[in-house]
Amino acid sequence: MSSEIKVRTYLEKSRPMLIGGQWSEGSGGVQQLIDPATEQVIGTAALAAETDIDLAVAAARNAFESPNWRRMPPADRAQRLWKLAELVEENADELAYLDTLNEGMPLGLAEFLCGAGPAEALRYYAGWCTKIEGTTAAISMPDSRPQGAFGPAYHAYTLREPLGVVGAISPWNVPTLMALAKIGPALAAGNTVVLKPSELTPLSALRLGELLAEADFPDGVVNIVPGTGAIAGAHLAAHKDVDMISFTGSTATGKEVARLAIGNLKRVGLELGGKSPILVFEDADLESTIPALAEAVFMNSGQICFAGTRVYVQRGIFEATVEGVARIAAAMKLGHGLDPETALGPLISARQRDGVMQYIEAARAGGDRIATGGNRLARDGFFIEPTVIVPKSINSAIVRDEIFGPVLCIMPFDTLEEAIALANDTPYGLASGVFTSSLSTAHRAAAEIRAGSVWINCYAMLDEAMPTGGYRQSGWGREAGRQGVEELTQTKSVVASL
Ligand code: NDP
Repeated sequence: MSSEIKVRTYLEKSRPMLIGGQWSEGSGGVQQLIDPATEQVIGTAALAAETDIDLAVAAARNAFESPNWRRMPPADRAQRLWKLAELVEENADELAYLDTLNEGMPLGLAEFLCGAGPAEALRYYAGWCTKIEGTTAAISMPDSRPQGAFGPAYHAYTLREPLGVVGAISPWNVPTLMALAKIGPALAAGNTVVLKPSELTPLSALRLGELLAEADFPDGVVNIVPGTGAIAGAHLAAHKDVDMISFTGSTATGKEVARLAIGNLKRVGLELGGKSPILVFEDADLESTIPALAEAVFMNSGQICFAGTRVYVQRGIFEATVEGVARIAAAMKLGHGLDPETALGPLISARQRDGVMQYIEAARAGGDRIATGGNRLARDGFFIEPTVIVPKSINSAIVRDEIFGPVLCIMPFDTLEEAIALANDTPYGLASGVFTSSLSTAHRAAAEIRAGSVWINCYAMLDEAMPTGGYRQSGWGREAGRQGVEELTQTKSVVASL
């Protein structure tokens, strides 16, 4: 069956939520889901009310306490994650089609972000299940036994244990990938999960619920409850029986989530927004750098947290770089993500489009140079042309705020010191890039930039082995890598007198 037919069949019925292994209509009504490229309704999904969140948390707690999960050997957890990876790959066409239809991204991009990418990530996490270890310690407490007693007086060691119920809240921009980025490491560490995907894009997460059952995860180990942020998200964040809230979204909402989580002092992980700088030095290979800059900012129409939206270029190559990036942007074909010619899809919603246009209009009104783009398309769908702006002031809103749209600000600099100061002149610190042929410049810049990721002569090379997360207001904690798994565990110290 073609992916189109599979998806059309899937969308014939309103999609229910997954609680304790049962599919439920929930109590919060239904939400119409929109194709952002056509503004047409593509289907509906259940919305969780607070009572549904309570049921989902209770199901996750029961599953966590049940020997089926709690006593499951780590190798068996690994096998299930491995199986889930296979299922994700087998169903990547359908997941990708759902994300393209519901989020708008080009199908080619969706196929990678829904198939090979997350499947490899799940295999990475499967590997961790059998490698979550404590340590032994030689402690120095006085020995109360008679002098000359044989062997150490104490046996001291640590255990790494799961936290319990992890509440996960994900954004709309890369739905399948975001859902699995929450579920994979949480399960590897032995937790259970209540996932609230964005109300705008719940479809692929709900389809993953079916794959989780096929992968033989016990009922209640993962619960998927689409709902609004204001009701379902806030209730989950505040819930007294949730042990950790793992949130990905905007900095403003992240602060609210941290505030809500304080009631039971649950652990909080925050993957938040950014306004990521890229520094381009005169000795960079411009032929490969210019396309990389366009890709860094325009991928998924700029709706990527680590999008490289502030590019600083050394003065001697400034105009050539502006011209080169603008030429690529102007040639990008906007359209429906299902059209193989499409390079750039729409923004997620009218609200998002209008918010981005307000920034562009303010820049235009303030006399900024718009090297290309700057307009919405006069057709159905929430399209904005890829836009390259040379701002008059480094203090304007378009340079400082996260816009989450296809808008690049490009500005000149003269020295390495000035470039570093400009890169760090932001409340964010999620990601950054450096393009240069000098090893010394590259590593000096990498050391000085205050951001969770630095890419040198490449951008957004995300690999599950590398932790990601934000400095400053881009977040708390790290996802991926050893640290990403360990942050989903807690340490117990055990001391035995021998
Ligand atoms: P939001 O912060 O608006 O929403 C993120 C999630 O939080 C959604 O599921 C949303 O639900 C939910 N939510 C909204 N209000 C509340 C609340 N009061 N309590 C609990 N949950 C709530 O972000 P967007 O969905 O608009 O996503 C874009 C943002 O995400 C950008 O800032 C981007 O940088 C960031 N992001 C960060 C990433 C990272 O790894 N650092 C990766 C990807 C995105 P609903 O949508 O249903 O309202």
